[in-house]
Amino acid sequence: MTLTVGTNWSANHAYRAARIEAPSSVEEVQQLLAGSTAVRALGTRHSFNPIADSSDLLLSTANLTFAPHIQEYERLVTVGAGMRYGDLASELQKHGWALSNLASLPHISIGGAIATGTHGSGNGVRSLAASVAALEIVTASGEVLQLRRGDADFDGAVVSLGALGIVTRVALDIEPTYEVAQTVFEGLRFDEAVANFDAITGAAYSVSLFTTWRNPDVIDQVWLKRRPKTDAAPPADLFGAVPAPADRHPLPGISAVNCTAQMGVAGAWLDRLPHFRLDFTPSNGEELQSEFLVPRRHAVAALAAVRELASKISPLLQVCEVRTIAEDSLWLSSAFQTDAVGLHFTWFKRQAEVEAFLPELESALAPFDARPHWGKVFTADRAALERVYPRLDDFRALAAKLDPNRVFVNEFLAEKVLPA
Ligand SMILES: Cc1cc2nc3c(=O)[nH]c(=O)nc-3n(C[C@H](O)[C@H](O)[C@H](O)COP(=O)(O)OP(=O)(O)OC[C@H]3O[C@@H](n4cnc5c(N)ncnc54)[C@H](O)[C@@H]3O)c2cc1C
Repeated sequence: MTLTVGTNWSANHAYRAARIEAPSSVEEVQQLLAGSTAVRALGTRHSFNPIADSSDLLLSTANLTFAPHIQEYERLVTVGAGMRYGDLASELQKHGWALSNLASLPHISIGGAIATGTHGSGNGVRSLAASVAALEIVTASGEVLQLRRGDADFDGAVVSLGALGIVTRVALDIEPTYEVAQTVFEGLRFDEAVANFDAITGAAYSVSLFTTWRNPDVIDQVWLKRRPKTDAAPPADLFGAVPAPADRHPLPGISAVNCTAQMGVAGAWLDRLPHFRLDFTPSNGEELQSEFLVPRRHAVAALAAVRELASKISPLLQVCEVRTIAEDSLWLSSAFQTDAVGLHFTWFKRQAEVEAFLPELESALAPFDARPHWGKVFTADRAALERVYPRLDDFRALAAKLDPNRVFVNEFLAEKVLPA
């Protein structure tokens, strides 16, 4: 495989790195680090900002895909950090195992997803990073560090922003395979959505609300992903919203052919938890994404604040998705020490206009302690991030300990997280 430096998935950022290498072993990673002063790990390029960029070497994890090793008794799978979630999910399913959650897209790498705190949805479901039980990290000195859940630095090292080293292997929690059945409801009135927010997001294992805000009085769709063995049957009427008569795409008017099966038909977890099918490989996306995660206690007020801006949001917006994430203990996770609600925006690819509007949206959400998704477009500065990530100083100390020469600190991190 010939790799070029190229762009991210959305092509809204051209990597400025001078070169790219794709090692296939821990030893090759060590050799590359030995001769480099500026390095960043690059996963599947799905982040929408320059977080992965480097002034010199991009170390692609595309070949760090060591085959999954399942430890049934411990309920763990150990796998190369460069593997895509979808590929791991297929392997697990073959052996009767499953993950507790997936993001909306199964094509992202495990290392990249956990480094940025990527999540799916579910009141009781934590971020993908919270399923990490152990990490193997090659640090700037070439040392191979093994960290396990419970170790002193572990909670700081999972959502790492790529600042601590190259994660080469990851152990993830697994559970026996299960089925999911998906039902889409349409036409939820906004006032019903906020009055019954806990009941709606608790109506299934994983729930997403989608809306374009073109009609601020209505949330267009609610996707319920139930585990039929344990969740109640879907209601005939969800606070006034009714089941869609056919499969739906989150964007109104777009064919649902690339979406995972709906209409309450049960199927394997990996074919229902993501919104989009694994066998559909999206090409470069004509979109930008931002997401702001608020502590759950602020969800209704934050939704009302977004609704106030509906007339400014909707011309720039393809669709907004609201998801819930259970609390974890990872220092830079957007669900650190709080159940969280993610307010996600898929924008039209109009970067300048989106960036011009974001400060207004961010200041409307600031009273609710909104944490921006590390891998999406945001404008928050270092001071704003310090306010919402109480362990940021501890993370800085950990980064200084593992990477004293700042080999993994790129421009983005220097500006937002790790000042010189
Ligand atoms: C269409 C689409 C759908 C998405 N859906 C969701 C969603 O449902 N939920 C959600 O939360 N996010 C979602 N995202 C955002 C996405 O999950 C994150 O941007 C994630 O980081 C992408 O992983 P990646 O492998 O592409 O990482 P990259 O963009 O390649 O890298 C991201 C960061 O991870 C670091 N990194 C990557 N691999 C390693 C490694 N092995 N060791 C150390 N550091 C590493 C990089 O240095 C960089 O800092 C979506 C993005 C797209 C484009």
